[in-house]
Amino acid sequence: MKPLFSTFAVAALLAGCAAPASFNYSVPAQPEGSSGYAEKPGWATTRFAVAAANPLATDAGYQVLKAGGSATDAAIAVQMVLALVEPQSSGLGGGAFLMHFNGNDVEAFDGRETAPAAADEKLFLGADGKPMAFYDAVVGGRSVGTPGTLRMLEMVHKQHGKLPWATLFAPAITLAENGFKVSARLSSLLLMETHLKKDPIAAAYFYKADGTPHDVGFVLRNPALADVLRKIAANGSKALLEGDVAQAIVDKVQKHPTNPGKLSLTDLSGYQPQKRAPICQDYRASAHDFRVCGFPPPSSGAIAVGQILGILGNTSAASLPMENGLPSADWLHLYTEASRLAFADRAQFLGDPDFVKPPAGTWMSLLDPTYLAERAKLISQTPGAMMSMKIAKPGTPGGLKTSYAPMPEQEEYGTSHISIVDGKGNAIAMTTTIEDGFGSRQMVNVKPGLSGGFLLNNELTDFSFAPADATGAPVANRVQPGKRPRSSMAPTLVFDKATGALVMSGGSPGGALIIHYTAKTIYGILNWGMLPQQAINLPNFASLNGPTMLEEKRFPATTVDALKARGHEVREVTMTSGLQAIVRGQAHGMQLWMGGADPRREGIVMGD
Ligand code: GLU
Repeated sequence: MKPLFSTFAVAALLAGCAAPASFNYSVPAQPEGSSGYAEKPGWATTRFAVAAANPLATDAGYQVLKAGGSATDAAIAVQMVLALVEPQSSGLGGGAFLMHFNGNDVEAFDGRETAPAAADEKLFLGADGKPMAFYDAVVGGRSVGTPGTLRMLEMVHKQHGKLPWATLFAPAITLAENGFKVSARLSSLLLMETHLKKDPIAAAYFYKADGTPHDVGFVLRNPALADVLRKIAANGSKALLEGDVAQAIVDKVQKHPTNPGKLSLTDLSGYQPQKRAPICQDYRASAHDFRVCGFPPPSSGAIAVGQILGILGNTSAASLPMENGLPSADWLHLYTEASRLAFADRAQFLGDPDFVKPPAGTWMSLLDPTYLAERAKLISQTPGAMMSMKIAKPGTPGGLKTSYAPMPEQEEYGTSHISIVDGKGNAIAMTTTIEDGFGSRQMVNVKPGLSGGFLLNNELTDFSFAPADATGAPVANRVQPGKRPRSSMAPTLVFDKATGALVMSGGSPGGALIIHYTAKTIYGILNWGMLPQQAINLPNFASLNGPTMLEEKRFPATTVDALKARGHEVREVTMTSGLQAIVRGQAHGMQLWMGGADPRREGIVMGD
């Protein structure tokens, strides 16, 4: 760890032994977590780096890398620790997308949850035929999709793992048994949470007898999770998706007292991760050519980020100077107008590619340079007379008229992002989720004598609740058996177009706002020459094709007023991104990995 631009101290590093075929995990000194906005210094390393949303998770990845593990090995160790210490965001009960670079090829591994075979498009319609209220749908078994994260990681490990599978579970098993200190973020989220206590297993694990959450620093043990992790270490994803753990998952979903779901043993045992072609797009910034690669459908992430960047590239945005280190009102106007156009297309066209045909036969029609140039013409750009379009309509990529109805914007929360580069030229960007904070609020416990367990996702609420519009036209992202819900997750790898060298790995949680958080960070690094930490620190801004959202208390009143004068309906709101990024840099002729972690959450970067 070389804190080049600050003397910020991270957790003591207790490296494991460097045996080639394994590694010995040592429990690090456990830092108190931060909450709210905590300044972070940015990090720089020379050989490898790992960035994750919790110091214990980052440390597990660090120890694996230090012992000669690959980026994939580190990602598995990080994910398992996150399942324990950041249970609200991701874990065994959820889904994930992983982008992998091996020095030559980029691959996209899809571990997204699937709808049960018995589900149909009426899953989220109430008795009156109307879409259910969001949390009526979320809490219980109804919203639970087949978890995909573990089997996807197993697939990636078979291809890119170096250390034995079983050893990668040691950090999470040790911490689950010995206990970890409840972080400030976990404690405060438990305090705000209203549904989790309704699940008796979760209530007994997360809360004291008086119903208040465990205090910050309380040592929380999860022996039930350790038990499941041990089985997975020995027998792989079958130990989760078949046998007694699978039965416990199905019982939890199907026997929910008020809101049961349809997930079955066959759904679990039959889950298949998918390897997909990544979406890669040329991008020119600061007179340099890059290639931005992201996750294809079922995520809308790469296409929406690519549309925003591509449409902005057809405006005067790049020539507009920043004002006091912040984007100007004119720049924010152009950015949010480009976003409106991108989100209109997202609502119209995006869904699981195994069920939904891309416009004009290819998803790349949505990123076609001619199409993006046409879309950019819809933005009012005259200096001194810019006005917002307020609501954009979807376009006709490839000249196509779609028969799908647009999907209304729905709530999304939760999630975690991991970025890793190893010493051998491999890199990973992985975004992982159980959807809402604490998912469906259903905690699976296989051994009633042991406390704890793991939480199940509510990913199915990423489908459109309404299957069709008022005219009966179907929504692309409606529920269908075996289908993957549309995502916004945008794990991204950026390359130098000429050399093919990796420039950046990054991504964020934040529901649909993931797209904006990620686009902001890419733009800040590539166009404004920022260090990753600086780009992550920039205030957040967005439009989901409605109001213009600005991170509250971060923009001057003059900017807000100037946007209002341009016809924007401005909403100043909390925008809790959880960005993590690693970027190639140079200092004194030495190649460095510069890392950044979001000051709005607890993440850190570690490396050597
Ligand atoms: N479930 C969301 C998605 O896949 C992510 C939720 C979040 O980040 O809060 O897009």
